[in-house]
Amino acid sequence: MKAAVFDGHKIAIKEVPKPELEDSQVLIEVKAAGICGTDIAIVKGYLPTPTPLILGHEFAGEIIKVGENVNQNWLGKRVTSEINSNIDFECYYCQREIFTQCISRKALGIDINGSFAEYIAVESYLLHEIPNNISYREATFIEPLAAAFQTFETMPLGSDDKTIAIFGLGKLGLLLCQVAVIKGLEVIGIDYSDRKLNLAKKYGARHLINRFKVKNITEKIRGKTENIGADIVVDTTGNPEVLIDIVASCKTRGKIHIKSTHGLETPINLTDIVVREITLYSSRCGPFDKAINALSTGVVQVNELISKEYPLDNIKEPFNSYEKNQDHIKTIILI
Ligand SMILES: [Zn+2]
Repeated sequence: MKAAVFDGHKIAIKEVPKPELEDSQVLIEVKAAGICGTDIAIVKGYLPTPTPLILGHEFAGEIIKVGENVNQNWLGKRVTSEINSNIDFECYYCQREIFTQCISRKALGIDINGSFAEYIAVESYLLHEIPNNISYREATFIEPLAAAFQTFETMPLGSDDKTIAIFGLGKLGLLLCQVAVIKGLEVIGIDYSDRKLNLAKKYGARHLINRFKVKNITEKIRGKTENIGADIVVDTTGNPEVLIDIVASCKTRGKIHIKSTHGLETPINLTDIVVREITLYSSRCGPFDKAINALSTGVVQVNELISKEYPLDNIKEPFNSYEKNQDHIKTIILI
């Protein structure tokens, strides 16, 4: 089969053997896969992975083969898959049903082969059926949308949590904006791109700040929050230098939530966090059922987040040109 293989330096289309199916797995014919910031970070060398590796972990497709120990009803189903595979179901975290943090876990497309390929074999416990009113393209957003929902799973909202400043309105920031509006929060969206700011406005953000046009972002955010700072400040930028502004923009006893996995060392003012008793949260993989429901009922919109589509053969192009256009949001690989 054809696959996009990362060799430790670059990504290239290669002919590789079709995955061998284990009894607990299904074989999925991949239809669409999204390129994530994590994929970019891997190719840039910021996140070490085993090599050679087929990248890609946001995907959807059709089940064409079912392992012996798997319910045969899965055959022919349209599905997406969670990414934390090789779960042992017995470690400290598994006993507490925190399967996404299993000590044995291996992430698809990061630790083991992923979805930039014609076929992928996945464990049946990772599968989620896609309703017919969600296209394969839209379904590639289920994994990141689940991560957006997870923000509020690890960070419970209190009665004083009213404003949320979201730094970075890329794919994750714009998904998070929509989820925050569902949660009843007043969103302050911050980005360099007017196109992304306009989308955030369409999705219900109350205040929009173009960083190119503002000298002191902290003052600007204070100005919109009765001079105390945002109740919650979230980083989705993937840019470590933003952390300085993020801490300064958060109110005393507020909440900071880090979503970026850029793999870089990060300057952060811990003294300010301690002195002002700010709580630091983080989160990653989240509840797929909530994401699927939000897409299926239309309360979250994703079609306008697709900036470009490429066939698998041309996958090198988006990896080479990723950061050249600041209005770019999401690339989908059609397979
Ligand atoms: Zn475990």
